[in-house]
Amino acid sequence: MSSPDLLDVGLPADQAPIVAAQPQRRATRQARVSWGSHVVTVGGDAPVRVQSMTNTDTVDVIGTAIQVKELAIAGSELVRITVNTPEAAEAVPHIREQLDRMGIDVPLVGDFHYNGHRLLTDFPAMAQALSKYRINPGNVGKGDKRDRQFGMMVEAAARWNKVVRIGVNWGSLDQELLASMMDENALRAEPWDAKQVMYQALVSSALRSAADARDIGLDADNIIISCKVSGVQDLISVYRALAARCDYALHLGLTEAGMGTKGTVASATALAVLLQEGIGDTIRVSLTPQPGEARTQEVVVALEILQSLGLRTFNPSVTACPGCGRTTSTTFQELAKQIDDFLRAQMPLWKAKYPGVENLKVAVMGCIVNGPGESKHADIGISLPGTGEAPAAPVFIDGEKALTLRGEGIATEFHQLVENYIEKRFGAAVADPH
Ligand code: SF4
Repeated sequence: MSSPDLLDVGLPADQAPIVAAQPQRRATRQARVSWGSHVVTVGGDAPVRVQSMTNTDTVDVIGTAIQVKELAIAGSELVRITVNTPEAAEAVPHIREQLDRMGIDVPLVGDFHYNGHRLLTDFPAMAQALSKYRINPGNVGKGDKRDRQFGMMVEAAARWNKVVRIGVNWGSLDQELLASMMDENALRAEPWDAKQVMYQALVSSALRSAADARDIGLDADNIIISCKVSGVQDLISVYRALAARCDYALHLGLTEAGMGTKGTVASATALAVLLQEGIGDTIRVSLTPQPGEARTQEVVVALEILQSLGLRTFNPSVTACPGCGRTTSTTFQELAKQIDDFLRAQMPLWKAKYPGVENLKVAVMGCIVNGPGESKHADIGISLPGTGEAPAAPVFIDGEKALTLRGEGIATEFHQLVENYIEKRFGAAVADPH
């Protein structure tokens, strides 16, 4: 029997219902990134993890620990630090101790290039304090040295039971591998274009290195792969190939995404396409901070990408209209920003105090056109008066009009109503032992 609803609106009787889009995560191995008694899982049934990287000098123990703390509080579940010198290697255990003293439960990932084999051998306390190593196969040495130095790093990981990210980057792709693949390509009856050879070299570098690491003795579950490029279409192409050719957990990110809006949009565009296809188990947004901008911005963007796709929920959402000629006042923009800032600022405290508060939906709308409708869909919403409308702002709570605010104090009163709503709805979860 056809649905009367479909017939009522004149649609063909055999039209299939429209299915809600829902990413299906790709099946992968699961890595356990651990320190002390703590574990952060990556891949398998774990949620897509957010990670970030410091830009402090690792030798500066306090400065680095403070930035790691800021990134962790912002929502980063793993934080990478560069380990580039013996002094930096010496500092790592002290950074871990400092974080433990501050109660910051986030694993540290060491980023190694060129001398990681020596540092991981000469500084066992550093090798143990880190929870995960990032090894770039393009930067481990040339010729005969490559295999030996790569082997030394993998042996350290196997000895200390650490997770390794084999992190290929097109800016530091293994040039010997690329050259040999170019030569092979030249012999093809119909040679591939240069871009296809580059894609193949990126993927081969990662997967051959993973196979080598397993031969040396690293558990396959302790391997995470990344192949970062800076072009959106290139990233999508490379990760689709990686996803098809292996079952390792994948670290996803556009390298050198850039600054501000450009970097944010490029990262969101690339990551959204892949995440929607179920590809990606941990993400990093490589934003260049603008002068004066907090390092935590890259974490804010990563959380927003996952929350926008419905993959995870971190913070209450504030729906606000863009404004138009129907409202010339900026009141609703200011109110929306105030509420958004307030909710974000409170989240570190509220996570424990109000379980489930991250699912809260607030609407702040500019006029009667979409204001009441959008506000009704939110848990709590306000429809401000547009130009020429009566100076009254109806407030909707749980879909019902609850009251109307008037006068100069609308912003303060709505702020209070939001707080009251949170206390009443989410505070009860703690008070009620059942
Ligand atoms: S809700 Fe009103 S003010 Fe906001 S964009 Fe729509 S018509 Fe314009």
